[in-house]
Amino acid sequence: MDIPFCPTRCLYCSFTSNAVGKDRSLVNDYRTALEEEIKYGAEIMEGRVPDTVYIGGGTPTALLPDELERLLLALRQSFGTDRSYEFTVEAGRPDSVTAEKLEIMKSHNVTRISVNPQTMNRKTLEIIGRRHTPEQVKEAFHLAREFGFDNINMDMIIGLPGEGPDEVGYTVDELCKLKPDSVTIHSLAVKRASLLMARMTDGMAGVTDTDALQMMETACMGARSLGMTPYYLYRQKNMSGNLENTGYASEGKHGLYNILINEEVQDILALGAGAVSKRVDCGGNTRRCANYKEVRDYISDVDTQVRKKRELWNV
Ligand code: SF4
Repeated sequence: MDIPFCPTRCLYCSFTSNAVGKDRSLVNDYRTALEEEIKYGAEIMEGRVPDTVYIGGGTPTALLPDELERLLLALRQSFGTDRSYEFTVEAGRPDSVTAEKLEIMKSHNVTRISVNPQTMNRKTLEIIGRRHTPEQVKEAFHLAREFGFDNINMDMIIGLPGEGPDEVGYTVDELCKLKPDSVTIHSLAVKRASLLMARMTDGMAGVTDTDALQMMETACMGARSLGMTPYYLYRQKNMSGNLENTGYASEGKHGLYNILINEEVQDILALGAGAVSKRVDCGGNTRRCANYKEVRDYISDVDTQVRKKRELWNV
């Protein structure tokens, strides 16, 4: 399920993400539309409980506590998500994580969260427009541990503007001190829809392939030093050093959803703006249908998106 709102827009972002503080009524209308799609989505599933639930975006924890509570409750009542094997919520921006939201997530059986620093260098965080500090990353992580989250993922990115091996080495050292349960090491992908692409066209320098490789090796060694092993990998266009994104996890802390989506072996009922649902038949063939990408389009026509899903599931 997608929550396409974030505290601010990152320089490299190519997702459908809207600044959460800009238009509160848009968030409200989006939540109402999503609740409707949840209700009809549950009818399509005819009582089946999803094996895994993944709420991403965007930044789901950018919602206000009562908005988050309402959505988690709607999922639980409609799909029985308290019986799912795994329930992940991306708490990606540490400045959006509060004790109240962690308590709400715990009470709705969220089993796994992601607190994403991307880098632990203050200067880089400013350059990429995330507007949070490395200290807030640590505070959010420790607070989540206090609330009993024993499966916390952290994302970092290789190839951020102005970063070389020293900066990545520092981020890896800081993450190793926190001891997350899994890390996802991304290579920066410069996408056409991002502000970064415009800056690079204006002369902002990228990293060399040699530096990118060295930084990737440092990050992978850091993950291994925490006892983690790699368990999924995927590539995108225009990645730093022509490298890849790799998920590392400690024993028993693998993201089941990440495995299933990469293996392409399971149906996905995807809800929210930009979400793409998938059906896999017994011969391994897949069929997909996509929701509208733009939030306003999504809000204005939930019926069409539900109808397309009914057709995909033949119900
Ligand atoms: S947190 Fe993710 S979705 Fe939000 S602006 Fe940054 S890259 Fe985009």
